[in-house]
Amino acid sequence: MNLLVINCGSSSLKYQLINADNESVLAKGLIEKIGLETGIFTHSPTGKHKIVQKENIPDHKAALNLVMNALTGEKYGVIESLSEISAVGHRIVHGGEFYSESVMIDDQVMEALEKCIELAPLHNPANITGINACTALLPGVPQIAVFDTAFHQTMPKEAYMYPLPYEYYEKYKVRKYGFHGTSHKYVSDRAAKFLGKDIGSLKIITCHLGNGASISAIKNGYSIDTTMGFTPLEGLAMGTRCGSIDPSIVTFLMEKENLTTDEVYEILNKESGVLGISGVSSDFRDIESAAENGDKRAQLAIDVFNYKVKTSIGSYVAAMDGVDAIVFTAGLGENSGSNRKAICGGLTYLGIEIDDEKNKIRGQENMISTPESNVKVLVIPTDEEMAIARDTKKIVDGIVLDKALS
Ligand code: AMP
Repeated sequence: MNLLVINCGSSSLKYQLINADNESVLAKGLIEKIGLETGIFTHSPTGKHKIVQKENIPDHKAALNLVMNALTGEKYGVIESLSEISAVGHRIVHGGEFYSESVMIDDQVMEALEKCIELAPLHNPANITGINACTALLPGVPQIAVFDTAFHQTMPKEAYMYPLPYEYYEKYKVRKYGFHGTSHKYVSDRAAKFLGKDIGSLKIITCHLGNGASISAIKNGYSIDTTMGFTPLEGLAMGTRCGSIDPSIVTFLMEKENLTTDEVYEILNKESGVLGISGVSSDFRDIESAAENGDKRAQLAIDVFNYKVKTSIGSYVAAMDGVDAIVFTAGLGENSGSNRKAICGGLTYLGIEIDDEKNKIRGQENMISTPESNVKVLVIPTDEEMAIARDTKKIVDGIVLDKALS
């Protein structure tokens, strides 16, 4: 069964075609700058040459058209016709309080996604556009929604309610939702398998440290708290996002700098985080090399980032009354031994000991703590596309079974 996994951003589209029976990736790619003057299309068919094309790509339907042509084309194709695509799995950013698991997309789901637009104004419209484009190009093919927020719907009320007037929750659903759920679920499941333990008996803290970054407390397989909130702006310091700050700073800056709501939103989302502190870059590789060359603000940005990660881990140890394993994942979590070492170096009270040699290994499943360490520390590469494909397959298999039984 071949499944197309789609991740639509406002001006980008990532895709993977996955053979779900043996979990092999047949092709993957990325379309950037959709709707701008020159779009960029990168298509990597497994076992064949990668292509990079620059051309005008006016909208997501045109982008998907390019993808479909590339997947079935003679030179760079991996399937003969679109009929070989059994289903499409979409990464959907916000499912609000409507969905705690993945679902088959129908009119009711589309209505719910529309209602969630005000909660994720940058992301959900792009997701909806992607679904509509697939409906037009692959009529009759089942489409599945896999939500970033779904895994965190198990958080208890005391974790997701903000201490604001209750009416804002009732009127506007202002509460913590959490994001990166597909990744937190995937790496916590893999961690339990790696340890040879039942996830139902483990307390795991997962650290998804990429350009966007969040941490989750996962008790017995369920998310009970996470650092991102009403939007993906809350929590850790990130590449360009400020994370949690005193809310008074927002109105203070608006007054002092005469800023509009759009301008202050832009500053908090795009000009803050480690970019804002360092003034160098949002990319940790650039910041690390600047720090190595003596740039003090770059070093400060790294220190602030690591401090927020460490103190968030501490708060989740409190939330779960203990921790069995800490998992690092995503671009920085999988690759930067120095960050992992700095974060775990401040957690000696938990009896954590890092094996420096193992901590050098990059990008593969690995236990980086010593055998004596009280808490196991793991690096688990995330694979959100494979997680989406698995959920999609599970739902499609269910539909086939239902039909056979009826
Ligand atoms: P992601 O959003 O998961 O793609 O992660 C992107 C972040 O991971 C960027 O800040 C990168 O600089 C960082 N990253 C990727 N590879 C490395 C590496 N080898 N060392 C340090 N940071 C890295």
